[in-house]
Amino acid sequence: MVLTYSEIIEKNRSEILKKWLDALNADNELKFLIEEPKHKQLLERLHALLLARFEASRFGADSGEANKGKAIFAQHASFDANLALKLCKVLIVYKQIVADMLEQAIASPPDLVRAYHSIDAVFHEINVQIFEHCAKEYPLLKTLAQPRKSSKGSQLPSQLNLFYKAFQHSTDGIIITDLDGTILEANQAFVDIFGYEYDEVIGKNTRILRAASTRDEIYNEMWASITEKGEWKGEIVNRRKTGEEIPVWVSITPIYESGKVVAYMAVEIDLSEKKKIENELVKEKKFTESLLDTANSLIVGLNLRGEITLFNKKLEQVTGYSRADVLGKSWIDIFIPAHERPNVYEVFNNIVNGELPSYYENIILNKSGQPRLIAWNNAPIHNEKNQIAGALGIGQDVTEQKRLETQILQSERLATIGQMASKVAHEIRNPLSSISLNAELLEDEIQAAGQAVSEDAEVLLQSIISEVDRVEKLTEEYLQFSRLPEADLCADDLLSLVQEVLDFIEPEANSVGVQIIKDYKENIPTLVFDRQQIRRVLFNIAKNAIEAMKHGGIMRVRLQVKPDDVELAISDTGNGIPERHRERVFEPFFTTKDMGTGLGLAISQQIIQEHGGSIFFESQPGKGTTFCFRLPKKQKQSIE
Ligand code: ADP
Ligand code: MG
Repeated sequence: MVLTYSEIIEKNRSEILKKWLDALNADNELKFLIEEPKHKQLLERLHALLLARFEASRFGADSGEANKGKAIFAQHASFDANLALKLCKVLIVYKQIVADMLEQAIASPPDLVRAYHSIDAVFHEINVQIFEHCAKEYPLLKTLAQPRKSSKGSQLPSQLNLFYKAFQHSTDGIIITDLDGTILEANQAFVDIFGYEYDEVIGKNTRILRAASTRDEIYNEMWASITEKGEWKGEIVNRRKTGEEIPVWVSITPIYESGKVVAYMAVEIDLSEKKKIENELVKEKKFTESLLDTANSLIVGLNLRGEITLFNKKLEQVTGYSRADVLGKSWIDIFIPAHERPNVYEVFNNIVNGELPSYYENIILNKSGQPRLIAWNNAPIHNEKNQIAGALGIGQDVTEQKRLETQILQSERLATIGQMASKVAHEIRNPLSSISLNAELLEDEIQAAGQAVSEDAEVLLQSIISEVDRVEKLTEEYLQFSRLPEADLCADDLLSLVQEVLDFIEPEANSVGVQIIKDYKENIPTLVFDRQQIRRVLFNIAKNAIEAMKHGGIMRVRLQVKPDDVELAISDTGNGIPERHRERVFEPFFTTKDMGTGLGLAISQQIIQEHGGSIFFESQPGKGTTFCFRLPKKQKQSIE
């Protein structure tokens, strides 16, 4: 076991005393001190005091022991200058003996330097006390005994003392090392952090602190930075005496003397508590994040400025934006279509003004600009002071659901309308056929009578017959709508059907000033469709086109082969469809015509949908309209 210098002195206390007294005895000048009992007593007390001071200096304690020194001298009224000088010499002898002994016992030069340094401080202190005591006799000497004043008026020794105390009592571990990293001095906190005894670290290289998990590069970088920039700061993992690893914040700075680096000071702050809390926070954060990400809901967090602070995986999937794309940006600017923004602002403001959680549906635009309908449950987010710091929205993408709902609603409506139409048509049909029969009989009667019948009567009769005819046709259409038979699908030639329909309507079209342009080639693939039903669709669309061009115009019929389907487009140069009617043209019974039934497009849409195709239009009011339908090249249901 390595002994500290005070332990070495303590162990040899009687030997030191003996050697000292012997040496004094051999010295003619100092001999009288031993011979006089009063003085010999003083010497013995001085010896005890020195031992106590060495012991105390090891712990940095001072005042109690120092006062003891004053007490010893106080027993001698005062020293004359002569006695004071002799006592100083006595101390020099003592110091020499102790120094020799330490030199024999301590092998490591830095340790020896430290030991010398420590005993020197003790001797200096005792010397000062001797002078102080002596100065009672010689007022002029007082200036000697008085501590020198620093320029700022503070007392230098006590200032040093303060520095030492600051070093010793700092809650951060501090060490001073030589240029090779050998620890010269360490404070209590350092010793506590690393679990060593003070003596165990003094003279050791800082390598004892290295943890296996800290890579060599970090140490290399540390030394490079110290040599280049003269300092290094950073977080590393060190090891305790027990081998346990400990995260520390280290700051290393050089100590200069006459412009040269003579030592380093390292301040080490124990981060293990902080790390533990940090790790727990990180764990908690990760847990929350994974919760948010596995949730099947869209979760968005906004701060008070409406900027995105939280954006979960599901939202990434639905919107096509990545978290990095949108964090910190305005939710409303990115996702809300312009016309919806005022509403969304209002809802957002209500939430951040503390309104209760609210349910809200709105449309957001995904990255490709497609609208998605989202149903949100919104709630305010609170900060640690319980103030509202933003809003949290948990949403479901209800786009599909809503589409299906409207589809179901539409087909339910169609079914009801169909039932009503069929009932009405049935009710009208019988009386209608008897009216029509009676009108014909009446006509026969009139003709048989052969008398001059007034022309008016003839006209009236014709009008009855033609109106009945119209109502019959209407009834027929209602009936057809209500009992649209299932499509009878056959492989067929669409081109020939288009040609047939156009041949049929061309004369009528020409008569109202409509010219038909046929824009198609011969090679249209064979498709699977119900010829009867598609004929109706073509007829309905063409008829609407002609009806839209009251003052004549051009009807262009184009047939095109697309990758998956064949598209038929019928354009007109008519009045177009105003914005407000666009949503409604496929609605049953929606008509803007005096004599219209409003069933043409409704029936056409139903037929095309049953064929697995699509029907749509484009229209520019005042310029014209194009109605298109597409029939798939491959019929899904037809094969079974
Ligand atoms: P109807 O022709 O009996 O009115 P439709 O279902 O065929 O019923 O058409 C519904 C409505 O759609 C029409 O009344 C008309 O307002 C509008 N429409 C349809 N086709 C055109 C067209 N080519 N140009 C302008 N408006 C049209
Ligand atoms: Mg029509």
